Amino acid sequence: MRSVKNKYHGNVISIINIWDMIRLGRYINQWLVTLDQEKPMMRSTASLVMLCSLFVFSFAQPTAPAYENLNAVLWMQTSVEYQASAVQTYRLAQLALLRGLRDERWTAALEQNGEFEKLPPAVVLDLDETVLDNSAFEARITASGETFSDPAWTKWVNERAAGLVPGAMDFVQFAHANGVTPVYITNRVCDSSKDDDPTVQQLRKLHLPLEAVSDQLLCAHTSKESDKTARREMIAKKYRILLLFGDQLGDFLQIPTDAADLTGRESLFITHQGLWGERWFQLPNPMYGSWEGAVGYSVDAKLSKLRK
Ligand SMILES: [Mg+2]
Repeated sequence: MRSVKNKYHGNVISIINIWDMIRLGRYINQWLVTLDQEKPMMRSTASLVMLCSLFVFSFAQPTAPAYENLNAVLWMQTSVEYQASAVQTYRLAQLALLRGLRDERWTAALEQNGEFEKLPPAVVLDLDETVLDNSAFEARITASGETFSDPAWTKWVNERAAGLVPGAMDFVQFAHANGVTPVYITNRVCDSSKDDDPTVQQLRKLHLPLEAVSDQLLCAHTSKESDKTARREMIAKKYRILLLFGDQLGDFLQIPTDAADLTGRESLFITHQGLWGERWFQLPNPMYGSWEGAVGYSVDAKLSKLRK
């Protein structure tokens, strides 16, 4: 799940029908002729304004391509490079899980403290773009030129049509077979106490291990809820968290408001660099994410961040 963002899509001129432009031209011409007959001075001023407008308009070609997310979505859907990245991440995590099981003081959660050695082991995974593949949803809005919206996302969730991220199923089955409970913390708005909840049914449809749904699936209450810290704290009271999985920085730690910019995120990354690939496993997602908010959603903001 992600927050609504504002994007600048497409070419302004392309959305103006050419016939409308011809009709507009005729109206303007008629108006100028009338002015020429009644108020010649005003006609000159109007002509000058029109000329200036045309000049400005000709330089106002938007710089955004119509399909800004096309490469990102296609990379997720068609490249073996994406598949290999996800599979290698989950495969390496199997080795980390075994190491974590052997060491009773091992935990991946910054929220875990106190005497947690005897707690049953768990792994905590985000859902979207970590376990669930929603690239078909992204493909739809990319192809139609739409932007992300909560109603469009809810419609997709209700379809229960997500796929699996490569390697995810093998990993959760491996964890389950080794007595480690997979726990899902998602920012989807869902209700794990209801069997007919679309996300609960989605997980069941994909045959993901899910025995005690209320314990294993922690939903967001509203679409504005993005911080997972409190939910990680809840899990840390019941389980020893061996590993964390996500496609967003917030899947691993709390991002303070004053550290949400690029510099702050870099600093958080470096502070915890010993955990990546050992206890924290990041899945690739070039389609969307909190990184984009840190860059800025406008094309101009993005262009200004390019390092040339
Ligand atoms: Mg995610």
